[in-house]
Amino acid sequence: MLPKVKVVLVGTTHPGNIGSVARAMKTMGLSDLVLVDPQTEIDEKSHALASGARDVLSEATIVDTLEEAVADCGLVVGSSARSRTLPWPMLDPRECGIKLMSEVGNYPVAVVFGRENSGLTNEELQLCQFHVCIPANPEYSSLNLAMAVQTICYEIRMAALTEIKPVEEAYPDSAKLEGYYAHLEDTLNDIGFIVKAHPGQVMTKLRRLYNRARPEEVELNILRGILTATQRGPNNKQTKD
Ligand code: SAH
Repeated sequence: MLPKVKVVLVGTTHPGNIGSVARAMKTMGLSDLVLVDPQTEIDEKSHALASGARDVLSEATIVDTLEEAVADCGLVVGSSARSRTLPWPMLDPRECGIKLMSEVGNYPVAVVFGRENSGLTNEELQLCQFHVCIPANPEYSSLNLAMAVQTICYEIRMAALTEIKPVEEAYPDSAKLEGYYAHLEDTLNDIGFIVKAHPGQVMTKLRRLYNRARPEEVELNILRGILTATQRGPNNKQTKD
């Protein structure tokens, strides 16, 4: 099961950290490392710090965007030390491990980590259904990237060693969810509910609402059908005759 848990690093700048992350993952039985737009090459420093986990490094996937990295994932959790202006559904590391393990049987799942100096952007965090925060010292809560990965991967392992009840719901993958949000935004533009030049916070707040509700795949299909009918307009009703 554990290979279907992706560890995604966004915009990492220090080659040593990538190596340390590989080691943190392998010690906890994880192997699927995805680098999004890394700001450094994997070099000798990475290999030295990876130690016995060089295989995780050499098999790492490199992609340009976070959307691409998580497109096939039915659950994406973003790891962040800072609370954001708009609070998101939150998990602590233990709940995060349990949630990931309860869904990994159904589809790939991912946990996403940010840049060493600036973390994840709000846009990146909004691609995640949940955020996880390690409840560290409030006066100094920012862990080194690889240490944060170690802490979360430990909880994933602990959950993997316990009998976790798998979820029965069939949730859509990230690509389908993003397709829905794009369709929703287009429709809200078409009907003049949001103005492209001044979109405000509407889409962010709607994303949060849908994240709280977590529509299943069949429900998302109904919502998309409603958007299509809305775009057709009241005078273009599909009649049966
Ligand atoms: N200075 C950055 C923190 C970067 S630490 C900031 O202010 O956001 C690099 C990454 O490690 C973060 O993006 C996050 O994914 C993870 N991380 C560090 N400390 C964490 C904590 N207390 N809880 C959750 N994730 C943490």
